[in-house]
Amino acid sequence: MNNWNPANNIQDYLVFGEFGGVNPSITDSSTYTFLTADKMSEVFEKEIEGCYLYSRHMNPSGHFLSQALALMENTETAHVTSSGMAAISVAILGICSQGDEIISSRTIYGGTYALFQNVLPRFGINTKFVDILNMEEVKSKITPKTKVIYLETMSNPMLEIADIREIKKIAKTCGAKVVVDNTFTPLIITPYNLGADIVIHSLTKYINGASDAVAGCICSDKEFINSLKDVNSGTAMLLGPTLDSFRSSSILKNLHTLHIRMIQHSKNALFIANKLSELGMRVIYPGLANHPQHQLFKEIMNEGYGFGGMLTLDAKTDTITHKLLPLMQDKLVGYYAVSLGFYKTLFSNPKNSTSSELPIELQNEMGMTDSIIRFSFGIDMDIQRTFDRMKSCFEEVGLL
Ligand code: PLP
Repeated sequence: MNNWNPANNIQDYLVFGEFGGVNPSITDSSTYTFLTADKMSEVFEKEIEGCYLYSRHMNPSGHFLSQALALMENTETAHVTSSGMAAISVAILGICSQGDEIISSRTIYGGTYALFQNVLPRFGINTKFVDILNMEEVKSKITPKTKVIYLETMSNPMLEIADIREIKKIAKTCGAKVVVDNTFTPLIITPYNLGADIVIHSLTKYINGASDAVAGCICSDKEFINSLKDVNSGTAMLLGPTLDSFRSSSILKNLHTLHIRMIQHSKNALFIANKLSELGMRVIYPGLANHPQHQLFKEIMNEGYGFGGMLTLDAKTDTITHKLLPLMQDKLVGYYAVSLGFYKTLFSNPKNSTSSELPIELQNEMGMTDSIIRFSFGIDMDIQRTFDRMKSCFEEVGLL
């Protein structure tokens, strides 16, 4: 367990508003004035601290959020985007050109899988999907064309934990960049400290925490982020998904309560995981001693934030699953909805939703059956009441 505390970095980040406000003012402008022709040419050529050109390049509100996220992920800087998928696309297209290859974990968000499998090959960028826990398999896929090794810190929806340190060693042998999607484990794991070159988030999830916005970010060194913002060749600048000022500002305010929320999400998920295990149910939760990567997680996690709010349950049959999901919503366990990181509990059946893009053979290899339910536990204070409601639903559908 690491003592490094990313929340302290965010708490130390002070930005004043235009009139001394405790929140930075929202910069409601798409373009910015210059006083001299020379300065304008200079800003077109290179990044100048405190100078803004046009809000698609970067805007002050987006800059403040980016800086706070960089402090959290311990990277030099960051860039905020209009969705998590935009962050992934911009980062990958910023690295790869026609003919290049990606080695990717097969257990990733369905949208990312579909991007790699269906869209990128149209531009000559091909992906080899691997079991990211199997280092020999990862090594065997390396070729001179490999530019990226891509993975999620905690995989979706099977909650496997990859050893980023080992992946980094392999990446070094071929000069590939390690790109890690840390959406499931903000604050809990700091991939950059373990060897990631680029850390991605869907801010839509835990970081915003209110399920009212779609956004993403790319955290990395200045050289890489500036290359994405280059006016002539940067994928962030030219594909154009830079996050809007209003959303940047609202997400920054939510980011400041992330540490408290993560602690409660983790506490609730662990409570339920223990209770369900006691009932003999098949539960996947990295905080349980029987999780295959429990020890690894303990080794790499930052102290104090727990094992996260995600839990996967096997409801045995698809008939039970299809009855259970709407019933749990009726009985106020939470919402039957995709996504995660909301203050209320969310649950869904990944096979028919967030992972439906994955081919059936891959779903089978991952062990993702029709009866797998993914929970994102909320921050309710009375988790015993939530558990009692879950239990009565399980009894009603014959799962218990
Ligand atoms: N990464 C992960 C792990 C996700 O779960 C998701 C969405 O569910 C994304 C990326 C994409 O994020 P967004 O929906 O913000 O584009």
